[in-house]
Amino acid sequence: MDGLIEKSKADWKVAPNFTDYAAERQRFTWQWVRERLGIGRKGPINIARLAVDRHLAEGRGGKVAFRFLAAGRPVRTMSYAELARATNRFCAVLQRLGVRKGERVFVLARRIPELYVTVLGALKQGCVVSPLFSAFGPEPIATRINLGAGKVLVTTADLYRRKVAPVREKMPSLAHVLLVGEEGESVAEPATLDYAALMAEAGEGADVEVVTESEDPALLHFTSGTTGTPKGAVHVHEAVLMHWASSYYALDLHADDIFWCTADPGWVTGTSYGVIAPLLHGTTSVIDCEEFDAERWYDILASESVSVWYTAPTAIRMLMKAGEALLRGRRFPALRLIASVGEPLNPEAVRWGQAVLGLPIHDNWWQTETGGIMIANTPAFAIKPGSMGRPLPGVDAAIVRRGEGGEVVLVEQPDVEGELALRRGWPSMFRGYLGMEERYRQCFAGDWYLSGDLAKRDADGYFWFVGRRDDVIKSAGHLIGPFEVESVLMEHPAVAEAGVIGKPDAVVGEVVKAFVALKKGFEDSEALRQELLAHARKRLGAVVAPKEITVLANLPRTRSGKIMRRLLKARELGLPEGDLSTLEGGA
Ligand code: ATP
Ligand code: MG
Repeated sequence: MDGLIEKSKADWKVAPNFTDYAAERQRFTWQWVRERLGIGRKGPINIARLAVDRHLAEGRGGKVAFRFLAAGRPVRTMSYAELARATNRFCAVLQRLGVRKGERVFVLARRIPELYVTVLGALKQGCVVSPLFSAFGPEPIATRINLGAGKVLVTTADLYRRKVAPVREKMPSLAHVLLVGEEGESVAEPATLDYAALMAEAGEGADVEVVTESEDPALLHFTSGTTGTPKGAVHVHEAVLMHWASSYYALDLHADDIFWCTADPGWVTGTSYGVIAPLLHGTTSVIDCEEFDAERWYDILASESVSVWYTAPTAIRMLMKAGEALLRGRRFPALRLIASVGEPLNPEAVRWGQAVLGLPIHDNWWQTETGGIMIANTPAFAIKPGSMGRPLPGVDAAIVRRGEGGEVVLVEQPDVEGELALRRGWPSMFRGYLGMEERYRQCFAGDWYLSGDLAKRDADGYFWFVGRRDDVIKSAGHLIGPFEVESVLMEHPAVAEAGVIGKPDAVVGEVVKAFVALKKGFEDSEALRQELLAHARKRLGAVVAPKEITVLANLPRTRSGKIMRRLLKARELGLPEGDLSTLEGGA
């Protein structure tokens, strides 16, 4: 096994929240989380009121909630008190427009302050909010708004003209479109309203305070579309308990932290952890409006004194690909925890973090459907590079197999592959796929939610990702997880990223085919490809190693940063490419 990365308690710059794994799991109750948030067992619960207003009531209104960064512009800060005032005004705007509890509010914008005010204001007002990724084209926008029967859309004038106006007629549910004028841009478009003017005219708050309860729907998130058409997952206000607990245990958030979650709120990570979780802990968040740029990111980490950084494997691989020269001697003395989610994190990347940034990267696993982090590497135990870590307190995870009659059979033995399942009932569990009831039902069997991912659990209770059920390769009677093959390819100094698929083969069922992108300074050649195949064969054996390898400039990725193996496969086999709405660089 790859070397354990252990950190003694004395190495942590502040005392971690989570130090004794077994004791904390035993002691943990959701009621304890409710008490920490100052709410009772029953009664009102509202994500935004707990995230924002609670701090004012407790005298922390002056604390900075957000630091908004944008290229070529001064930093804009917003305190908890300012955020409370702005979100109250947005509640008043919604009320004046006649928008009622449970109705859907969509946001389509870059990471600008108005997006955050809209999300939190709509939640306060009891609406269901759905942030959309601003790079979506007109069709994906219309599809999602129609699926969610969106009543209100907040967007910018520029995005409206380019992406919404062409499909406006296809969205009959949309009663109000509010336009934000970025940098004084005109918002005069037919059949739209001026966001800033409405906010200015609105009172200090809505006349009637909407009360929300645990099971009231709050958030609508679309999945990444890695394996097919994106699904709309519905979450309720009670999810806030998981947002608080998971960021307490896995991200170790403290009120004094400067936290940077690089995900866009158009994906669940960017809402659960880019908006809600840091506010719940009274933390200051850095929000960068710009897209990935290796040097800019190193700059932000250093100049903003980021202490906890939550990012994704794809970003880490891009930093690795860009080369260490870009660091230009920068150091990150404030940084104390790095976490990653979204894809398997190759052991090579964990070690790169340790070598280059001075900290290992804490991988964690969850999905749009789970609403929050479920399995993580945490300060409470050593990291085994390549493992996703262990289930958080309050989360029961298991490896299961389907029995003859479709029933779930627990795999008790360590190191045996099966489907990763979670005992149903955690607070941020999705409560439905919009418009796909049967599909939702199929995700559950007995007490268990079946994730669709294959994994193993070792004797120490660490979980190891094998692959998605759809991506697993069956070759000569063996089941091969693409992650294992990709990780070995990435150990080669020339390889920046790798995507592995199964290619139909008359003799063995499927053969393993790899696609790789090279690091700066390496070029494609027959000799290099042969070297990579030999390297993989040596490490993996002939059955598991790829038989073919193709070098690409970049691998196709979803906008949330996941390698789209289904697209690599469709292109390789000349099959239809399917739903490409979330493809990076696509429409
Ligand atoms: P779709 O469901 O539309 O195909 P998606 O599953 O990629 O898209 P998300 O909910 O954004 O949509 O992603 C969750 C999935 O991402 C997980 O089911 C898993 O396959 C993968 N994933 C997330 N974190 C990790 C991790 N740490 N290690 C391995 N895989 C991960
Ligand atoms: Mg999924």
